[in-house]
Amino acid sequence: MKIAIAGAGAMGSRFGTMLKRAGNDVILIDPWAEHVDKINHDGLQIDTDNGSEQFQIPAFLPQDVDFQPELVVLFTKSMGLVTMLKAIEPILTPETKIVCLLNGLGHTEVIEKYIPKANIFMGVTLWTAALLGAGHVKLVGDGSIEIQNIDPAEADAAKKICAVFDDAGLKATYSSNVMFSIWRKACVNGTLNTLCTLLDCNIAEFGGLPQSNDLVRTIVAEFGKVAANEGVLLNVDEVAQHIAKLYDPSQAGEHYPSMYQDLILHHRLTEIDYLNGYVAAQAAKLNLQTPVCQVLTEMVHAKEQLLVK
Ligand code: NAD
Repeated sequence: MKIAIAGAGAMGSRFGTMLKRAGNDVILIDPWAEHVDKINHDGLQIDTDNGSEQFQIPAFLPQDVDFQPELVVLFTKSMGLVTMLKAIEPILTPETKIVCLLNGLGHTEVIEKYIPKANIFMGVTLWTAALLGAGHVKLVGDGSIEIQNIDPAEADAAKKICAVFDDAGLKATYSSNVMFSIWRKACVNGTLNTLCTLLDCNIAEFGGLPQSNDLVRTIVAEFGKVAANEGVLLNVDEVAQHIAKLYDPSQAGEHYPSMYQDLILHHRLTEIDYLNGYVAAQAAKLNLQTPVCQVLTEMVHAKEQLLVK
């Protein structure tokens, strides 16, 4: 299959290389010129537990793409989504399918402005990856993906896309309620990412605080109010218990969440507006009260003001 990865940072590079190894015709599209140049000149450097290799895969700046994909995998950061959708419009046909695997909330409504509903497939993934520098990624660990069609008539197309991912070892399953999974993962990110970033700690350190469970339950309950309005029913107890399991150092405890790495370590903007910020903004429109998400969003933005130059 002809596949374009739109947004080839850590995750896009992982998916692109795995789909290419499986025999697909894959290109990477990314706006970071130094990254694109390195990949085309030296290959993508992939570090794994077994060593390092230079993987040959074509990479393009968005404005230079000369390729007509059957499938586009969106893997920008949330704040880069609209720019990428506008940039790739010229290479899309009425048949091009789009899979969105970004973290965060509200992406379907954005994508629907550019792509017919029948061609949009939403997903959520537990794979991870790290970008170490231009043209250089670290790919360790295992993962999975859930994918579902937005248009009820497109379930067969979603299952075919799952098969393409699955054949590449990406462990994809067809979901009958992907929006639930997207919201549940957003609750993980909207608690652990946000709080570890503001408190400057890893997940185990956060879990060891006497306030951790109350903070998590309060935030998840606020997410639940907005989710319910979108037809997604979150069970606060279940989600809070799911999050608490991650405190264990044998799970994710030693890990500093990606928002921490982006903002505190690399002084890059965060996806807060698509997590707690999305909840606060939607709640304001609906006359619902989500004061903690509102304050957390403002605090992360304040931290961005201090750190992002
Ligand atoms: P990333 O930060 O690796 O890359 C995102 C974009 O930022 C890319 O276009 C990349 O080229 C650019 N970029 C990165 N460093 C740069 C630099 N120094 N200068 C200029 N540009 C730079 O993003 P990601 O981690 O692949 O995340 C993509 C999406 O997947 C996000 O929504 C994220 O939340 C989600 N996600 C990530 C992981 C993970 O483990 N990384 C896991 C699950 C979901």
